[in-house]
Amino acid sequence: MKALVYHGPNNPVFEDKPKPVIQKNTDAIVRISKTTICGTDLHILKGDVPTVVDGRILGHEGVGIIDEVGSGVSNFKKGDHVLISCITSCGRCRSCKKQMYSHCENGGWILGNTIDGTQAEFVRIPYADTSLHHIPHGLEEEALVMLSDILPTGFEVGVLNGQVRLGDIVAIVGAGPVGMAALLTAQFYTPAEIIMIDIDANRLELSKKFGATQTIDSSTGNERVIQKVMELTEGRGVDVVIEAVGIPATFQLCQHIVKAGGHIANVGVHGKSVELHLEKLWGHNVTITTGLVDTYTIPVLLRTVQSKKLMPQQLITHYFKLSEIMKAYHTFSNAAKEKALKVIIENDL
Ligand code: NAD
Ligand code: ZN
Ligand code: ZN
Repeated sequence: MKALVYHGPNNPVFEDKPKPVIQKNTDAIVRISKTTICGTDLHILKGDVPTVVDGRILGHEGVGIIDEVGSGVSNFKKGDHVLISCITSCGRCRSCKKQMYSHCENGGWILGNTIDGTQAEFVRIPYADTSLHHIPHGLEEEALVMLSDILPTGFEVGVLNGQVRLGDIVAIVGAGPVGMAALLTAQFYTPAEIIMIDIDANRLELSKKFGATQTIDSSTGNERVIQKVMELTEGRGVDVVIEAVGIPATFQLCQHIVKAGGHIANVGVHGKSVELHLEKLWGHNVTITTGLVDTYTIPVLLRTVQSKKLMPQQLITHYFKLSEIMKAYHTFSNAAKEKALKVIIENDL
């Protein structure tokens, strides 16, 4: 089969790999119908994720059809239409019992990381019973690809950890796919205002279509943003600020614009240490949360897509065939220039 394979930093190759086989009786083999590329895949290609070794097939998002199941799989059979969670969970360990699947002792984020991933014709899914989801009849596949990772990430680590409530003023720093996912799902709770902050004018414009009530261009630095947020909030700051970038400057910004009693929900993956201004925050009753996505909300998100309360297909800007995946990477790596948010890659092989 064909797959997108990591051969060291800046060297992805679309090449032949053996079709995966059942290794444990709890595995399933899924024929990928549609997959996508995540910002994390770009981090991997820069060499930022040392657990990914030469020869690894990338990708941790996708939908497909079950091709084969091990004898221990009871919830799925050949021909079933499935959504793949980016997080693999055994369902039995201590972390899984707490729904903290990201820290599953036998899984977690392993797809396209420590085991071969979804940017291929076929993928092996360990613990299929607890790591796959049935796709309800009649749902559009491409919308559901957004539910493997970015929607649960924006929702769980941003909106739910940040405790967005009716009437809140919410700021989201970063209008990438994850920030946009937080923007879409924050609206379940009817906040009064959602302020999107980014340096990319195109993404800010797009965010207005997805429900942002205010946008602030932060390309000229934090000072202006802080001033603007204070103007919008009568000098108080915001109830909830969701950090969806992952650099020191944006976490700093969150600390400046959160109001007393507010929440900072960090979603961004940080590679560098960040200053925590406790000298300012200590008496502010501020709650700071962090987290790796657990994908425990996939079932509820599926229902909201089914009832059209959530329309994640809005996040898709580009379409490619699997045979054109190198082109898809090129477009996604130049997101600002190409005006790209999420790309769909369809298995045409
Ligand atoms: P992305 O790179 O597509 O988006 C980041 C956005 O931040 C871009 O729109 C960019 O223009 C903007 N940005 C960059 N510098 C900025 C600045 N100084 N001020 C304001 N905006 C700025 O990434 P994404 O896929 O949307 O992911 C967002 C973050 O979430 C990343 O750090 C990613 O690694 C992380 N993530 C976390 C989890 C988790 O489980 N916690 C899961 C998935 C992704
Ligand atoms: Zn991802
Ligand atoms: Zn587990």
